[in-house]
Amino acid sequence: MDYWYRLDSQDRISAVSENFDQFSRDNGGPEQLSREVLGRPLWDFVEGEDLRVFLKSILERAQQGTVRIPMRCDSPGQLRLLEMQVTPDRQIHFLELKLRDRPEAPAEDRLVTMCSWCNTMETEVGWLPLDLMAHFSVPSEKITHGICPQCEVAFENGEFDHLESGF
Ligand SMILES: [Zn+2]
Repeated sequence: MDYWYRLDSQDRISAVSENFDQFSRDNGGPEQLSREVLGRPLWDFVEGEDLRVFLKSILERAQQGTVRIPMRCDSPGQLRLLEMQVTPDRQIHFLELKLRDRPEAPAEDRLVTMCSWCNTMETEVGWLPLDLMAHFSVPSEKITHGICPQCEVAFENGEFDHLESGF
């Protein structure tokens, strides 16, 4: 499902697509998320300083022209490849590129950091490759968010091929 939201010049969420609430509901979020988010700064909903810095640089880049960034946005039951499009008018679109079901797997018993862009996870042995982690579902209460080193480099170079792995 494709959806979008728009930011005003103060980074407040000024409009959302009609299907915004349905998207939230389908992903286990609040029933009327739009009512909660409208008028509030985007940064109230962005977890972690590194993610904030990353998003700010995307917004800045989008002033010169639309920025397209593939990202993994898996939900508990599904593997999903999205494209994030940020247009110069500060509208942020999420377009669904690929979707498939994922098998259930036994959950880990400790907190893991998940990359918000590709869904790789940081473990004791480092960041696990996406095609390994894509097959496991970790309960959301065990997950904190960040950006993996691979996505940071990918963003700098515009190379996002690794987001396709696991499909
Ligand atoms: Zn990543």
